[in-house]
This record gives sequence, C-alpha cells and structure tokens, in this order.
Amino acid sequence: RKKGRLIIVAYRLPFKIIKNESGTSLFQNSGGLVSAVLSLAQGSNNTSFEFEDKIQWIGYTDNTAEELEGVTLENDNFKAHPVFISQELNDNYYEGFCNDLIWPLFHYFPTIAKFETKFFEAYQEANLLFYDAMVDVIQPDDVIWIHDYQLMLLPDLIRQKFPKNKIGFFFHIPFPSFEIFRLLPSIWREAIIDGIMGADVVGFHTNDYVEYFLKAVRMVIGQGNRMHYVNLNNRLVKVDAFPISIDYKKFNDAFDDPLVIKARHDARTPLMEKVIFSVDRLDYSKGLLNRLKGYERFLEQYEEWHGRVSFVMMVVPSRDQIEQYQQMKSEIDQTVGRIGAQYGKINWQPIIYQYRSMPFEELVGLYTASDVALITPVRDGMNLVCKEYVASRKDEQGVLILSEMAGAAAELGEALIINPTDSQDIADAINKALEMEPEDQRKRMVAMQQRLREYDVFAWTNDFFTQMIMIDQEHKRLKL
Ligand code: UDP
Repeated sequence: RKKGRLIIVAYRLPFKIIKNESGTSLFQNSGGLVSAVLSLAQGSNNTSFEFEDKIQWIGYTDNTAEELEGVTLENDNFKAHPVFISQELNDNYYEGFCNDLIWPLFHYFPTIAKFETKFFEAYQEANLLFYDAMVDVIQPDDVIWIHDYQLMLLPDLIRQKFPKNKIGFFFHIPFPSFEIFRLLPSIWREAIIDGIMGADVVGFHTNDYVEYFLKAVRMVIGQGNRMHYVNLNNRLVKVDAFPISIDYKKFNDAFDDPLVIKARHDARTPLMEKVIFSVDRLDYSKGLLNRLKGYERFLEQYEEWHGRVSFVMMVVPSRDQIEQYQQMKSEIDQTVGRIGAQYGKINWQPIIYQYRSMPFEELVGLYTASDVALITPVRDGMNLVCKEYVASRKDEQGVLILSEMAGAAAELGEALIINPTDSQDIADAINKALEMEPEDQRKRMVAMQQRLREYDVFAWTNDFFTQMIMIDQEHKRLKL
C-alpha cells in the first residue's frame, strides 16, 4: 500500500478567504471537485493508498500577499498554498488567454477567439507562478493532480523539476478536433501539448476528446500511441476518458427534503399543465438562442399546447461585464419578449425567464417539478445540469431532451437526443416529450439513473486517482 500526500492544483483555492477585524475566516466552496477530493482523502472508497497529512491545494487568491501575511490558511481538510497574480497579469492570463481565447476556441467559436501575443506571454508567466508556489511544497511521495485549461503548461514544468512524482492532469472542457486546435500559432500549440504531456495520466470527459487530443499529439510532436499510451523518451503517458459526474445520492435524497418539497410545490401554479425548464450559466456555448428558436418553432407548429405548457428558463449570471455576453443577453431578452408578445395571453405566459442564481433547494425543486428538461448546448464539455436532473427524479418521471454536443450525451442515450442548431428537431422533441407515456418515461429514467448511480463523482475521483498511483504496475502488466 502506497503512502503520500495529495496535492491538488486548480485555478481557484477550495475556500474563500474573508478578513475583517475579528480575524480571518475560510469559507469552503461546495463545488463538485472539492467534495469529491474530500471523499477520496477521507478514505471512503480507496484502499490502495494511504493519505498522509491534509490535502494540499495550490490555487489563485484575489487577496494580496500582505493581507494574508501571518494568516493560517488551513481548515480541517485542506492546507492552502496561495498563488498571487497581479490584476494586470490576471487580465491577460485568465480573462485573456483562458476566457477570450481557449474557452471560445475549444467550444468551436474560433471567430470570437482573440489571438494575442501578450495573452500567451501572460499565460506562461502565470503558469510559472503556480510552479513557484509548488516548488517548496512538493515532497518525494506526493501525488499531484492538476486541473483544467488554466494550467496546461504546468505538468511539464513540474515534471522537469520532480521527475519521480506521479502527476495527473484533468481537462474539464472539450478538447477540439485538430482543425480547430491548429488555429493556434504553432509555438503555442507545441507548448500546450508538451505542457500537458508532462503528466503520467491525462484525462478527458469523453472518448472523442481523447481521440482529438491523441491526434494533436501525433500532429504536433510526432508521437503516436498504443492503446492510449504515448511513449516519450522512455516515459509513458496514459490518455483516457473519465466522465465527470455528480454526487448522485445528494440529488436523489434531496427529493424528500422538506425545503425541496416546498420549492417543488412553489415551482408551478395550478394553471400549468406541463412545465419545461432549462438552467445554464449565461454563455454562448449553452445554445440559449437556439433553444428559444426551437421553442418558438414548437409553439408555431403544435398549437394544441398553447395555454397548457410553460417554459421556465433560468439563466445564471456569468461574465456579464464582457461585451460579448452583454450583447448575447440583450438578444435573449428580445427573443423572450418577442415570443411572449406573439403567443402569450392574459392568463398564459409561454416563457418564464429569470436571470439569477438559485439556492440548491430551489434548483432541485425546479428539477423535480418539471415534466421536461430542455438542455441544448451547442458545445459543452460535460454538462452537469442534465445529470443532476436525472439524479433528482426519485419519482422516475420526467423527460430529458439533450444536445448531442454535450459530453453527457455519450452516457445518456435514453434521453431524446437533438441537434441544437436544428429548430425542427427541438420542436418535435418537445412535443414527443410532452406526449410521452409515464411508463416510457420511467424506463428511460431508470436506465440513466442506474448508470449515474454507479459512476458518481466519487467513483470518478477514485478512478482517476487510482490510475495515477497504479500506472507503474499497469505498465509492467501490459509489458509496455
Ligand atoms: N448551479 C449553480 N447555481 C445555480 C444554478 C446551477 O451553481 O443557480 C450549478 C448546477 O447545479 C451545476 C453547475 O452549476 O452543478 C453547472 O454545471 P454545468 O456542467 O452544467 O455547466 P458549467 O456552468 O460548468 O459550464
């Protein structure tokens, strides 16, 4: 049995640091990664590794070094090692390279991607700041797990200095086909591939992303692979799919939570015969306008549903200081207004649209009150909302309409799978969902639930982590 510490590196620290006169408080995030990593270290499901010490977490904080001087940055679970990045550098690194270039490009929006040299320079500089924060932390038996597109250069920086440590890298957004990836200047794409390939295990959500990445490796550094293993100067890198998931039990159990029961009751009025919902962050990748057009087509063609169905569209504010997002928001506002004006009646609103975030209970209340989930991203690495919807339906009712462009579609084949650019496809799927017999709904829901129950977020973390620590044995076993 191996022993050592777990080091997590992600753009953000696992807690918010609030400082005032009475001292410093740490507010732990409730996000999926934080709870998944915790369950791993608490040993609930791993038997092949003994965790020493708390989880060490390296991440950016918007506090300054002076503010944090003398402050103990640890709670019962995590010890944090903050990375300080100046506002100007962060503008070019995080807002620039990450969110104005990699995010749109890797979600297949090359025309809005900004290719600026200063962004790439800032990206290199910021990755080095993460590296600097780690150098004094790393010990020989530490297992290092690096996350996402903000840190693509980091695995190799660490590898150069610590050749013996196990390093994992997980990519949370889509990895695009080579014709998109090659739009990056060649120096950048080499740096990205070399950077990521510093890891022992590289994980993506789906087999497609794995294939695209392996093709990029072949095209950019001329290395092929055998059974997803890439051979680099006597070092092997395993590239594989690990579809991220959710805390299934939490969503399933929530069905009977009194606050959720109340929220479920509040989510619909007696006038609503059928309810369709969607929940997304404001983002061009989420297909919000396509969805509205599909719903409009549905209203145009299926008049028998007028007055009987309501579409509750919740949009969670995100990045709305950026012009691109503001413009998209005003287009959404206009389209919702137009549809309401054309089809609405005094006693019937075809769309109920809100721009705000929701507490957990209200979210699950909406999930469990709705007859149909309408999830139509034009591109989404995974999409957790659809998995949460399925998990919360303890009553085994409800229909999921899901875009084939979401990573989750690879696992949720019993959904009504649509192409998000095809309004007719969306309109027909809505009608089919509304007409679906309870028995058919149950059959599909149960099949999806079974899959998600077995491979929840804890299985995901465990799976990835186990691959990292067992990789040497696997090499031997496969005689690689
Ligand atoms: N969510 C949230 N606040 C809300 C509504 C939803 O934090 O008001 C959560 C939701 O439960 C889900 C996540 O946001 O876990 C969205 O994840 P997804 O993968 O669907 O999309 P992303 O926003 O990561 O692109």
